[in-house]
Amino acid sequence: MSAAHPDLHQMGVAELGAALHARQTSATEVAQHLLARAHAHSGLGAYLALNEAATLAQAAAADARLSAGERGPLLGVPLAHKDVLVTRDFPTTAGSKMLQGYRSPFDATVVQRLAAAGAVSLGKLNCDEFAMGSGNDQSAYGPAHNPWDRTRVPGGSSGGSAVAVAARLAPAATGTDTGGSIRQPASFCGVTGIKPTYGRCSRYGLVAYASSLDQAGPMARSAHDCALLLSAMAGPDVERDSTSLEQPPEDYSRYLAQPWPGASASRPLQGLRIGLPREFFGPGCASDVLQAVRAALSELERLGATLLDIALPRTELAIPAYYIIAPAEASSNLSRYDGVRYGHRAAQPSDLLDLYQRSRSEAFGPEVQRRILLGTYVLSHGYYDAYYIKAQQIRRLIAQDFQTAFGQCDLIAGPVAPSVAWAIGAKTADPLAAYLADIYTLPASLAGLPGMSVPAGFGADHLPVGLQLIGNYLSEARLLQVAHQLQRVTDFHRQSPQGF
Ligand code: GLN
Repeated sequence: MSAAHPDLHQMGVAELGAALHARQTSATEVAQHLLARAHAHSGLGAYLALNEAATLAQAAAADARLSAGERGPLLGVPLAHKDVLVTRDFPTTAGSKMLQGYRSPFDATVVQRLAAAGAVSLGKLNCDEFAMGSGNDQSAYGPAHNPWDRTRVPGGSSGGSAVAVAARLAPAATGTDTGGSIRQPASFCGVTGIKPTYGRCSRYGLVAYASSLDQAGPMARSAHDCALLLSAMAGPDVERDSTSLEQPPEDYSRYLAQPWPGASASRPLQGLRIGLPREFFGPGCASDVLQAVRAALSELERLGATLLDIALPRTELAIPAYYIIAPAEASSNLSRYDGVRYGHRAAQPSDLLDLYQRSRSEAFGPEVQRRILLGTYVLSHGYYDAYYIKAQQIRRLIAQDFQTAFGQCDLIAGPVAPSVAWAIGAKTADPLAAYLADIYTLPASLAGLPGMSVPAGFGADHLPVGLQLIGNYLSEARLLQVAHQLQRVTDFHRQSPQGF
């Protein structure tokens, strides 16, 4: 621990940026401090890879830029990446034995953009294998532990990212969200996370799970810090990702301190209409979660927002639709791991088929194998129309339901997950139970809409509860504004788990 700045790990992105600009600390000092913390708390299972030499070289480069007078909100600020984003300086495993020791020859676009902004990479963070899971209990490298209660899951699949931020190992992290993997771990660990509109952040260099859903985004302590990261990460990359949106780069922090259009400073959310889907507030949601969510909604009301009932009538169908579409795409994406080009290769194969079969069955874990089987089945001749096409039709209807809702309200709010974090192992043997817990995050994913999780308080056993905010396409700056207004009058996002 640094004698000069023993509390460097308590500082968020904006605060660290300011301290670095004021030369009260250096990128090197901050990086050293957080690397020491990563080692001290290795029992949390947050990191899968560190590379001190690479981190310190990046920090030295940032310090040189600062000394030369360069300024920027992320210059010298450390962060860490979910291990499904490929990096040159660290191995990338996607939480799988299949990619053990894999070194990418290039950086993912979002990694490269954050590095260009001067962010210093501390390492790679644990996740469910190929981002398939909701508890980070499907990682081939062991579970990550929720710092609020180490016997609980941190959520998944970006569990390591949420743990790193919550346990003050890093002020911010990247995550990816296919069906909730930024929002749900953010909720379980009491941090702030945003899944942008599909296509906002380039998928180039993101190890593919379900390409029509995968989206990277930031996780940090506050909406303000998320806005600073997203401003660097987002932007067109059409030459390398054909689904990247051709929207010019934006400053996502531009509305943060502003009142809602037409509102006054004393009631900054006056005029904002928040729709509450009745399907999100039914008996399927635990009462402690509902209580915290309702309390956060009352805060938004006090700030001037109007709450109204809306319907998202196909919410229940999101689960079967997603668990057809995502495995279908996964079965196709994961066919590239054949033991020939890269990834695990079985020893002494008797022939080509044996090489394929043993390489894949030795290195893919049970959840990944289950989804490949499911996906191959729903895409097979005869079942394609019955399952895959039907799921795509439901997906379209879900997206239409959101547009109907956005005719009545400016944004939608509800719980992120139906419960607080469960015990590690509680759902490992029952995949359906884990799938059902995705009910509130899947609809926005299927529709490609931006969604975020904002700390809303605590439920049973003092475990964090997140408030989900869902906006219309490209409304990230507005979502962050509303979250920021909430964070001005609440302090849940500033609380850290005991001992951290
Ligand atoms: N829990 C969901 C799944 O297992 C979502 C995962 C994700 O968003 N990567 O597919």
